[in-house]
Amino acid sequence: MAYRNRDWPGKLDILRQERGYQCEVEYNGHRCYTKGELEFAHIKPSGLSGRSRGQSRRYYDIKKNPECYKLMCKYHHNKFDREYWRNLQKETENETSRTSSESDEVCISE
Ligand SMILES: [Zn+2]
Repeated sequence: MAYRNRDWPGKLDILRQERGYQCEVEYNGHRCYTKGELEFAHIKPSGLSGRSRGQSRRYYDIKKNPECYKLMCKYHHNKFDREYWRNLQKETENETSRTSSESDEVCISE
């Protein structure tokens, strides 16, 4: 299942620019200085669930719920994702009636 990340290079790049092109993670009292490959990490549940949704949807979701995302370097994103999704899985283990499948629907108004 490969989403073509290159479909929306410009849009997500604009969002990166708005955030100063820098990893937003703070540790030991200072901010990560990485400015290399930055990705948007899903830090709170928003309309979108799952990591690898289409780029256009993600773009609108970030626009709509900027507080649900954080710009991270690859390293921090991977680290964060591992921990975050592991915890989330634990929390939702009890209500696993949800199908983890293609329920890709998300309401995008505006
Ligand atoms: Zn970082």
